[in-house]
Amino acid sequence: MQHLVDTNDFNDSQLIQIMNDAKAFKTKMPSKILEDKLLITLFFESSTRTRSSFEVAAKRLGASVVHLDPSKSSTNKGESLEDTFENLAAMEPDGVIIRHEFNNTPKKLANKALTPIINAGAGNNAHPTQALLDCFTMMEHFGVDKPEELKGKKLAIVGDIVSSRVASSGIRLFTRLGLDVILVAPKPFMPNNDLPQYEDLNDVIEKVDVIMSLRAQLERHKAPIFEDYNEYANKYCINKERMGNREILLLHPGPVMRNIDISDEMLEDKRSKVLEQVKNGVFVRMAILKLILDN
Ligand code: ASP
Repeated sequence: MQHLVDTNDFNDSQLIQIMNDAKAFKTKMPSKILEDKLLITLFFESSTRTRSSFEVAAKRLGASVVHLDPSKSSTNKGESLEDTFENLAAMEPDGVIIRHEFNNTPKKLANKALTPIINAGAGNNAHPTQALLDCFTMMEHFGVDKPEELKGKKLAIVGDIVSSRVASSGIRLFTRLGLDVILVAPKPFMPNNDLPQYEDLNDVIEKVDVIMSLRAQLERHKAPIFEDYNEYANKYCINKERMGNREILLLHPGPVMRNIDISDEMLEDKRSKVLEQVKNGVFVRMAILKLILDN
């Protein structure tokens, strides 16, 4: 049974297939190849882009989608997550798309092998579909056909890296593909790993091809880390002054905290591909659903 707990669930040829299919779907909408399939979405944390993107992707391929709102489900009556999941699986869906605050929830459910699990974001540990759509957006930008051709590109991840599942999945995928990943953050936002780490973006901006800006994940901070995010923005906000005329691709998974993560002006700039990422997310998720469900 194929799951997507993190991108290492896909081998290299599956990664290539996803990128090829996403590209083909973006050029020409496919027929409804998942017409007889049904997915259940189970989001225990808020979502704007990911949940709607999965639903649009499923419907573009003809699949049906049932949403369970956990705040109105029996988890409120004390039912465990495992029991809720087993009851949903008993209805024989073709897959469950789950977002949860705990890092290991998708893996735990996948291990039951009752139905394919697609991780739509777990704690600060993994958000594989975001990493895959970011990979697609970079490939499109650099005009390459295979993920491995991104090898050697320099990507700076800037912001609240330690709390970010986007960064966690991204770092695993992009280092696997051979990108040079550089981390830029103030100390409280820096994870503990052996990638190159900088506190000041100015020290690396000359050599980077891509900047991925990240939101401060206030909901994951046990106590407020900065009293004043304008002070943080003075050093880390991606604005025109900082970018200059450099040809750098600017990414952000959303939601963007305007003028803290990225300035209004840079969001309008053609180097910013934030909405293109959202658009690509649908095609990449279509390709993922095809790979997992159309067997
Ligand atoms: N949307 C992304 C996530 O779910 C990033 C964010 O929330 O800042 O992790």
